[in-house]
Amino acid sequence: MDRNDDRYDLLVVGSANADLVVEVERRPGPGETVSGSDLAVHPGGKGGNQAVAAARLGARTALLARVGDDAHGRLLLDAQRAAGVSVEAVRTGGAPTGVALITVDPSGDNSIVVSPGANALLTPADVRAAARLVRAAAVVSAQLEIPVATVVETVRVRDGAGRFVLNPSPAGPVPTEVLAACDPLVVNEHEARVLLGHGAGDSPGERALALLALGPRSVVITLGAAGAVTADGRTGVVARIAAVPVTAVDTTGAGDAFTAALAWRLGRGDELPTAAGYAARVGAAAVTRKGAQESYPTAAELPPG
Ligand code: ADP
Repeated sequence: MDRNDDRYDLLVVGSANADLVVEVERRPGPGETVSGSDLAVHPGGKGGNQAVAAARLGARTALLARVGDDAHGRLLLDAQRAAGVSVEAVRTGGAPTGVALITVDPSGDNSIVVSPGANALLTPADVRAAARLVRAAAVVSAQLEIPVATVVETVRVRDGAGRFVLNPSPAGPVPTEVLAACDPLVVNEHEARVLLGHGAGDSPGERALALLALGPRSVVITLGAAGAVTADGRTGVVARIAAVPVTAVDTTGAGDAFTAALAWRLGRGDELPTAAGYAARVGAAAVTRKGAQESYPTAAELPPG
């Protein structure tokens, strides 16, 4: 990648974590110790996942994130580079690389402890230092595994240039200023409930319209094996996007792959329902393989729409 050629299709502003996974017969109670499998270390974090997903599809992608000056940080950067992501804007140091400590029991249920580490130190100043990239990218995508103030600064530096896409995950409050910039706001059903509170519409379409009323320019609700619904504030069109039928093996990171694909295609000029249809093919492919980043398809591996 030519370092002076900074007009990326997609700039992801977000987290990078090492996922440390141990399989256990059962999870320990308080004060208890159990033995598990050998440790498996996977590159993860919603920001890292989105960047890898887009790059594998062919998008010119960069990641703005912070990792520690440690072995996990180097592993995460290697995974990004291997997928073709530019790491020119990744900052290093200040705290250990973020990790997710994951135990998985035989039924597939997870218990997860997240240590945000360096992700918590991705600051508004880091966004300002990367202002050139933030303004030039066709699409900027963010999530909430980094400080909200950093997401706010991303919107301010972006200042209406191109598109901004937000997946507010982990679910939490989103400042009005950020909501107003979202085009679209991408949520799963849990995140939709958190933003709307109770009693906000019986159907996904009603919930999408209720989310639109919170201020974003457009909304996508992902519905797992049931596909997705889109709502466009400009046209008022609500569209149901069918899921692509596949045999799901592991749904980890499906939403991140969906969002990255959606963001990239919108930046290329697709209409919202068309981009969501493409993203559903990417999400479907991702659930047919184990893991998050390891499961993401290239364009050639996508199932037919
Ligand atoms: P999250 O991972 O954020 O909870 P979802 O589970 O809603 O997100 O999945 C995101 C997208 O991935 C869905 O909208 C759908 O297009 C696709 N997807 C997820 N699970 C399946 C599945 N079992 N079969 C087909 N597509 C799926």
